[in-house]
Amino acid sequence: MTLRLYWEDPYLWRFTARVVEETTYQGQPAVILDRTAFYPAGGGQPSDRGTLNGIPVREVMEREEDGVILHLLERPLGMQEVEGIVDGERRFDHMQQHTGQHILSQAFLRVAGAQTVSFHIGHEVVTIDLETTDLPEAVAEAAEELANRVVLENREVRTWWVNGGEVEALGLRRSPSVEGPIRIVEVADFDRSPCGGTHVRRTGEVGPIKILKWERRGGGVRVSFLCGWRALRDYQGKYRRLLQVARLLSAGEADLMEAVQALQRELKEARRSLSLLQELYIEEVLPTLERKACPVPFGELVIHVWAQLPPGLLPRLARRLSASGPRLVILAAGGSAGLLAVACGPGIPVSAQQILERIRSRLGFSGGGGRSDYAQAPLPPTISMADLRKILEEASGELTRSAG
Ligand SMILES: [Zn+2]
Repeated sequence: MTLRLYWEDPYLWRFTARVVEETTYQGQPAVILDRTAFYPAGGGQPSDRGTLNGIPVREVMEREEDGVILHLLERPLGMQEVEGIVDGERRFDHMQQHTGQHILSQAFLRVAGAQTVSFHIGHEVVTIDLETTDLPEAVAEAAEELANRVVLENREVRTWWVNGGEVEALGLRRSPSVEGPIRIVEVADFDRSPCGGTHVRRTGEVGPIKILKWERRGGGVRVSFLCGWRALRDYQGKYRRLLQVARLLSAGEADLMEAVQALQRELKEARRSLSLLQELYIEEVLPTLERKACPVPFGELVIHVWAQLPPGLLPRLARRLSASGPRLVILAAGGSAGLLAVACGPGIPVSAQQILERIRSRLGFSGGGGRSDYAQAPLPPTISMADLRKILEEASGELTRSAG
């Protein structure tokens, strides 16, 4: 068994040790030491990083068969004595999150009677899964409030070992999941849990505990939260973005909500006006387009090209023009939102999709699609309107002949 220095002193981030075995794990060089300050992944807490004699430690894990700790290295060590350096910033972050989790879990138990069934320190956020079907906002707030009070009271956090038989009398938050001696982590007069993780000395070191969100997950509720530096950095980032948005809207941060609501109202109004204007334009332009309809053997053909048209108008015009009878309608508009639309009225013996495909291949572009009665394709900005007009005229001649 490797002697686990992090249990005796979680702040010991520099240590010396003797190599017990140099081996490999899944093709990677690995080393077992007689003692280590490197925490292996487990119990929701990620493994430590750092170096052994300057060689980066990529992963630290407990070997299942015998419980020794494997340090996976970037390259073989080749030495008998090592100096290990644990990445203290990463470890302290894990200590803040882990002690914070014990406090928050106990807070949820006291405020809502909700037991924590799992815990995970992720790269971004920390999560706990609560055994509850529902979490009202007021309850989450009360748990957060209580957790932060315990932090600010700067209570002592201590650890000790007991035998399995002594566990009953300790009033632990949850039952231990391992056999043999049990390690107890206690937040003074608040929480006692079986835990093999690394913890801060006093709750004040946890720093702020902030719940971010919660959602139903399986039969329970998953709560995402941040502690310590993570919480502060999250606050800094959020506040920076808040100020940026306020500046964009020329509003104070307190008036942001009203500013966004005003924008929403304006947008709704602008959309309504646009829709009305489009309707007016369609009514205005339809008779002109109707007059352009020329007779062909299968009915009528309408072709028209605009230099530019607001998006949304072309499909509506094409459908309106083709709605009432055997009429083939080919409309196009250039500009940034250029579009080619083909619509076939009832009784047309060809499919809109096929016609679109033919025009597309003549012009040498791809994309778009549709059904037999309507098809459309975005026009690439490289297509010249003059070319388009020419090809549409040619196509119309062909169509007249083939349909006839
Ligand atoms: Zn724990």
